[in-house]
Amino acid sequence: MFCENCGNKLPDGAKFCGGCGAKTEPVQPAYTAADEPAPARPVPPPAYAPPAQTAPSYQQTYAPQQPSAYSGRGGSDPLGVGQYIGMLLLMCVPILNIILLFVWSFGSSANLNKKNFARASLILGAIGLILSIVFGAALSSIIGELLGGMGGYY
Ligand SMILES: [Zn+2]
Repeated sequence: MFCENCGNKLPDGAKFCGGCGAKTEPVQPAYTAADEPAPARPVPPPAYAPPAQTAPSYQQTYAPQQPSAYSGRGGSDPLGVGQYIGMLLLMCVPILNIILLFVWSFGSSANLNKKNFARASLILGAIGLILSIVFGAALSSIIGELLGGMGGYY
């Protein structure tokens, strides 16, 4: 064993050089310190296990909420007499009834019976509107022909 600073021969296990006083570098501890990080590499895989265990817990918490949400919100409960009276009274208001029919038909918060009633009313209203337009056009054409014929005679 020799000193790296001055090349003086040192006895085995000496920590300082007898010639220049330089500190001899402990070679063996450096190697052991470098070898230690290697076995630490397989540690990360266990960190992936906890998320896999929490994932099924989310599905379990979501599953029970759906039936309760459906039974609570999408009400198929029968409407009361007062609700029907209020609904029919609202249908008497000229413009408000159309708005309410659209809201009840396509809104997700309305009662299922009210939603079906609104859809049926909209379909009947659309049929009536189409029929009135067709008959109105036919009547106007007939009247126009009559007027034109009368104008031709005169
Ligand atoms: Zn030395």
